[in-house]
Amino acid sequence: MTTIAIIGGGIAARSLLFTMAKNKISAKILVFYSDSFAFPCSLHSTAIVAPRGVTTGLSPLGDHLFESFERFKRHVDNDRPHGVIVVPQYTGVKTKVDEFKKRYPFAVVAKNAGSIDLSEEVHLIEERAYLIRPREYLDWLLTEAKKSLDSTIINSFVTQVKDGKITTTDGYEYSADKIIFTAGVQNDLWQEYFPIKKTTKPVQGSYLEFSGVKHTDSFSLSLDGDNLIYDKEKETLLLGSTTRESRLELSPEKELLSIYQDFSKNIGIDLPAFSSGEIKIGLREKASKREPYLLQSGIYSMIGGFYKNGYRVSLSMAERLLNSL
Ligand SMILES: Cc1cc2nc3c(=O)[nH]c(=O)nc-3n(C[C@H](O)[C@H](O)[C@H](O)COP(=O)(O)OP(=O)(O)OC[C@H]3O[C@@H](n4cnc5c(N)ncnc54)[C@H](O)[C@@H]3O)c2cc1C
Repeated sequence: MTTIAIIGGGIAARSLLFTMAKNKISAKILVFYSDSFAFPCSLHSTAIVAPRGVTTGLSPLGDHLFESFERFKRHVDNDRPHGVIVVPQYTGVKTKVDEFKKRYPFAVVAKNAGSIDLSEEVHLIEERAYLIRPREYLDWLLTEAKKSLDSTIINSFVTQVKDGKITTTDGYEYSADKIIFTAGVQNDLWQEYFPIKKTTKPVQGSYLEFSGVKHTDSFSLSLDGDNLIYDKEKETLLLGSTTRESRLELSPEKELLSIYQDFSKNIGIDLPAFSSGEIKIGLREKASKREPYLLQSGIYSMIGGFYKNGYRVSLSMAERLLNSL
């Protein structure tokens, strides 16, 4: 029987495992990941999947994002995954109005976004979106995949991959016929296996998470590019996000404070004290033109470059990868 090794445990790896199970892939699967050595960006993600006014025919990235949203929507309708809830996505602007109207020709002028009062009128659009609870959804994908795949999870960090042999930090060696890298920002360590290299950059993203927050309904609100996401059942409020080119997890308190102050001024919800929010930081892999990529050479494959769209694109990228094996 063929042995396939997957290096990674984030949304890229788990969507791939789920898709393999759906496609009844008959192989022995070894999954390597170590959250202590390389914390998954997927667990520090605001994780909203929304149409965001993307249409087809304008750019390859736009086409892909459109197709990915449709794919994710079908997944929710057909598979009823745990950890995914439907919420309204309100997107509004006070600045760059012409650009906004091009993207959203049906935007209205409003002084409230659903149950949220706004301090002044904005140009606003409402879309149907998905709020993802990362831990719950990632666990569900793995549990579902394990029901029909012959899979073994190896909670170890991979230190070497050579001639189909995988060595981990604890010194064990494993053999595989195919090796798939889904290592997020760590993918760049394994690019040497591919003749056509991808230029990628690590970009940190961060947000504040508040617990025990009470409001009437769940929502996702983007105002002039900043985001506020509320999960009523979990009573969590996320506020962010910042973007900085860096491989380090640097705490961007100043930028978060500025977003916090803007929201405090602009919405009619009393936010909890800034100091009660927990800062969450994730490292994202940005490829050129922000386009997710698929690389292949011999026994090696790699998917990555999910950047700000990991939850949106992972199922469609998993399908592209499986089709190309
Ligand atoms: C602040 C923020 C907000 C975001 N908001 C959204 C959003 O609203 N919607 C959206 O779709 N996306 C969003 N994203 C992006 C999304 O979270 C990422 O694109 C996605 O999580 C990347 O997933 P991944 O599986 O490629 O990488 P990761 O989740 O980083 O997973 C990589 C995995 O590889 C493992 N690994 C790495 N190297 C090794 C090794 N040598 N050996 C073993 N294991 C290894 C790690 O342990 C980890 O499990 C956001 C990201 C951030 C930071």
